[in-house]
Amino acid sequence: MKLVSLPEEPPTILVVDDDQFIRELLRRVMEKEGYKVVEATNGEQGLDVYQRLKPHLVMLDALMPVMDGFTCCKHLQKLSDEDETSPDSEHLEAQGLQGVSQTPVLMITNLDDPESVDRAFAVGATDYITKPIHLAVLRQRVRRLIQQFQLYQKLEQANRELQRLATLDGLTGVANRRRFDQYLDDEWWRMIREELPLSLILCDIDFFKKYNDTYGHQAGDACLRRVADALRFCAKRSVDLVARYGGEEFAIVLPNTTTIGASLVAEELRSLVHGLKITHAASAVSEYVTLSLGVASLYPEPDTPPAKLVAEADMALYQAKASGRNRY
Ligand code: GH3
Ligand code: MG
Ligand code: MG
Repeated sequence: MKLVSLPEEPPTILVVDDDQFIRELLRRVMEKEGYKVVEATNGEQGLDVYQRLKPHLVMLDALMPVMDGFTCCKHLQKLSDEDETSPDSEHLEAQGLQGVSQTPVLMITNLDDPESVDRAFAVGATDYITKPIHLAVLRQRVRRLIQQFQLYQKLEQANRELQRLATLDGLTGVANRRRFDQYLDDEWWRMIREELPLSLILCDIDFFKKYNDTYGHQAGDACLRRVADALRFCAKRSVDLVARYGGEEFAIVLPNTTTIGASLVAEELRSLVHGLKITHAASAVSEYVTLSLGVASLYPEPDTPPAKLVAEADMALYQAKASGRNRY
């Protein structure tokens, strides 16, 4: 698994303050620490820059014209939430760790009355320091906040990569059975909501046991990979899903596709795999590796399970086998 290994750009800090003197001071101190600094003079401008540059930390003054720091902070949380792609965020919140995945916001302000401090944290500030700024403290806080945020981002990336791997078949790189079950179920319900047809193609390599017996298991594996690649090439729409259903069986989920459309795809798959011309001397139907396919289409209904579609495709596949193979 790869974590970010490129030479990393320096973290970006967004300084939002109406006081030019403070902005320049903060810029100088932070640039000396090796950070990149961008500035905004009020909350509204701050939000705009945030959206364009996605900084690693926001330093926010509480009292500013146009939009104050509290309001700006509230909006920042919303924007940060929308960026949130991790399926883990709910889980973290349940553990009282809300906010760890969001861009840290450090409020720097003259206000040190308890109400202002409470209000800052209530609108989502990560930390709070008062003016006059103690620069040594500021440097440490900034470093810690940015480190935590970057660590979390890496963790999220690693998580996403793990989740992706957990849904793939190791040999062929297409979706695995687990992903297939999940996807079929998701699409089943989506087709119900949208009143659209759902199609499924099940395909099985003909005489594959003989192929293994003749050419060896490794050649068998290579054959499975080539067939999987061909299937993937054929299932072109972004919502189509190719999965390894079992040993030498594959499944293709085709949302919003009628029998006619699915049959066209099935014939294309059959002819493409035959056209790969993978020699199979022991096959009784062709000199090459071939597929038998079963097609099923229906308009999903809430009181029928997706298994019905699988059962119908399986029955069709059985018929294709029984009536001579290399057909759908
Ligand atoms: P049919 O035409 O009726 O489908 O016959 P078949 O020989 O293809 O079907 P059968 O179910 O009898 O055999 C399937 C074979 O697929 C047996 C098994 O060894 C092989 N197989 C399953 N998974 C793998 C795999 O990951 N790699 C290899 N090389 N072979 C596999
Ligand atoms: Mg087979
Ligand atoms: Mg089989």
